[in-house]
Amino acid sequence: MSFNNLGLPSSLIEALASLDYKQATPIQKAAIPHVLMGKDVLGIAKTGSGKTASFVLPILMKLQVDRALKNRHVKVLVLVPTRELAMQVQEVFQEFGNLLPKHIKSLAVFGGVSINPQMIALQNVHVLTATPGRLLELVASKAVHLSDVKTLVLDEADKMLNRSFQEEINEILALLPKRRQNLLFSATLSKEVQEVKSLLLTNPEVIKIEEKSESKETDIELINQSAYLVTEERKGPFLRYLLQTKDWKQVLIFASSSRKVDNVVLKLKKNGIEALAIHGKKSQGARTRALAKFKAGEVRILVATDLLSRGIDIEFLPCVINYELPRSPKDYIHRIGRTGRAEASGDAISLVTKEELHHFKIIQKKMGKWIQLSYTEEVDLHGF
Ligand code: ADP
Ligand code: MG
Repeated sequence: MSFNNLGLPSSLIEALASLDYKQATPIQKAAIPHVLMGKDVLGIAKTGSGKTASFVLPILMKLQVDRALKNRHVKVLVLVPTRELAMQVQEVFQEFGNLLPKHIKSLAVFGGVSINPQMIALQNVHVLTATPGRLLELVASKAVHLSDVKTLVLDEADKMLNRSFQEEINEILALLPKRRQNLLFSATLSKEVQEVKSLLLTNPEVIKIEEKSESKETDIELINQSAYLVTEERKGPFLRYLLQTKDWKQVLIFASSSRKVDNVVLKLKKNGIEALAIHGKKSQGARTRALAKFKAGEVRILVATDLLSRGIDIEFLPCVINYELPRSPKDYIHRIGRTGRAEASGDAISLVTKEELHHFKIIQKKMGKWIQLSYTEEVDLHGF
């Protein structure tokens, strides 16, 4: 499955190979030709399966032949749920844009940092990746206009269309031209699909890349899921036991709230284990630095809230630990999807208390997969 026959020029295909993009993933193979043809696309494929390139590449290609723009009138708008994801998607536009002969200006805008540099940078931008709140601020101050948008992308589309973003998204949709291309991508779009289709999409290509059947013996699970039943009091020592006895190169730990994240980090530090934290109460500078350090492999342990559960791509991350279960089964799927990306494998471990067993069952049922639960009261945590 190379990048041939998708409508991309051979010069680009060669350049992609030099970036180690040698084979198109199934979602890329299915989506790229339709996006190039200007169709609406609803793309559903699992975490880490290369959804970003499946819209970035064809969008950049189309802009090669249709670059003219009015100043401050972006042609492509990509909406994402978090600042970190905005930066990451922008990096992909940048990286692939550099492979093409005609310069395409792309930019990411998001809250938590000063708005002035973003206002200045919004000159002659073709592709804008944004979180909704900051985008609306920039629109209000006339730093950007959305009336020329030809293509709208919702990455993590189910999240963008759920209640938490509803008002902002409606406001943004009202500013866009009625005739435009809509591209929606997510690993977890199910119930909403019908609604989404009628709301946003015109005769869309619905692309759903099914996971291979589990009954096949040849099918190797990329994410090796397991769970431990542990009491609240023993969670801290048990976590340290895991971190010290397993030789994961890096571990991403999820907890439910900013306070809990700080708590976990503090306890790790008290026990001589270095860790960084990312959550909504940290400054954007601290968030960005922590993620950059983790992505660069300069710190072994990162503890985060669900802020980091969507879309964030950490190369070769070998392990995700749920220090607490997420409330939503979808978030569980996104959290563990930070490992096992791009055909690599990884461990996903959940610490579950007795009180959470029922909820854990619901998560497994929604996911359609049962997870081996191990008991831990025999584990000697002395010294951890
Ligand atoms: P998704 O959005 O589906 O969760 P991403 O687009 O973030 O996945 O891609 C996951 C990882 O796979 C990224 O590191 C990306 O660079 C890599 N990747 C994507 N497509 C390919 C490809 N065709 N060949 C090699 N690596 C790829
Ligand atoms: Mg993604």
